[in-house]
Amino acid sequence: MAAFWTEPDFDDHELVQLVHDRASGLTAIFAIHSTHLGPGGGGTRFWHYADPADAMKDALRLSKGMSYKNAMAGLPAGGAKAVILAGPERRKTPEMLAVFGDAIEALGGRYVTAEDVGMAEADMAAIAERTKHVSGLPVPEGHAGGDPGPFTAKGIFLGIKAAVSHKLGRADVSGVHVAIQGTGSVGGGVARLLAAEGAQLTLADIDEAKAAALANELGADVVPSDAIMHVACDVFSPNALGAILDESGIESLNAPIVAGGANNQLARPEHGPALAKRGILYAPDYVINAGGIINVTMEYIARRTGEQSGTAEVYRKIDEIPARLHAIWQECEVSGESPDVVADRMARNLIGRG
Ligand code: NAD
Repeated sequence: MAAFWTEPDFDDHELVQLVHDRASGLTAIFAIHSTHLGPGGGGTRFWHYADPADAMKDALRLSKGMSYKNAMAGLPAGGAKAVILAGPERRKTPEMLAVFGDAIEALGGRYVTAEDVGMAEADMAAIAERTKHVSGLPVPEGHAGGDPGPFTAKGIFLGIKAAVSHKLGRADVSGVHVAIQGTGSVGGGVARLLAAEGAQLTLADIDEAKAAALANELGADVVPSDAIMHVACDVFSPNALGAILDESGIESLNAPIVAGGANNQLARPEHGPALAKRGILYAPDYVINAGGIINVTMEYIARRTGEQSGTAEVYRKIDEIPARLHAIWQECEVSGESPDVVADRMARNLIGRG
């Protein structure tokens, strides 16, 4: 069996730890990619992996992604991730969460957890009984923290405006046609913000009733979910699934801009340059969708320091997202590289791995 540190996803991670507790049945992997900028921040994924090797891959890959995302968001946080290997029955018990919380505490603040797939706010509250290194806990109205969706949506809205200005030379989004894939927490928020500034919207969701209700509210058009990537528009905004930008997805696009919040939009690294080759301006996903992580990180910092941040301060940091995107696109014009390549390099420089 190959050692995990010889796997392609291993990227000089500072710490990779397996925690196994016979009594509770907990098996978890902690991966801390970098603490160069601060404690490694990143959610806990609770997932059943048919092949446990995929759990290690996820931990290695996602923790590195968090290093890049936190660095490019200008946060004093490194990158990390935890994966709890669920059994096929996906049983999650208070005992498991207690042992998991103790394991986080034992890392002494090098890892700060948050919600990810399969974890809920109640799980975070249970973990918080054993360790202080948790974000994403309930907060009073007006304080940093709480539902990340609206904060993520605001960053994407600002990022779309930046892309429209850069690519189309337009100062506002009035009359700009945006096709939005996914009308959930993030996509719905982006749609409302765009509609309020007069954008023309086409919406799609696999939950057709949800898309139709939002379209009705905003005076938007709706198309079936398999048609949204073909819509002739100014901006295609993916806010549902990852890996949609593969050969056929890129081929189908009829828009000069891709800017949306879905994580891991590029199916493989070569798809960033492929988008650029088609003349499509891409807003790197982890840069444009950082509003939610900015919010939870500021919540954690406030709890640790006792200096409360309000949502106004969170929004001030989110306001910096467009400048980061412009810096990436400007560097692309000089170097001839695609935005994903430039963003990764900027992120690596920020974490001292240039
Ligand atoms: P959500 O579950 O609230 O909404 C996702 C929506 O996409 C749902 O309405 C779902 O029906 C729809 N959908 C699923 N498959 C689809 C398809 N093939 N075509 C069209 N619609 C489809 O999730 P969310 O919180 O809005 O997150 C959306 C994306 O943004 C995800 O990729 C998520 O990882 C990413 N993201 C979210 C946040 C956040 O703060 N919530 C932060 C960063 C990144």
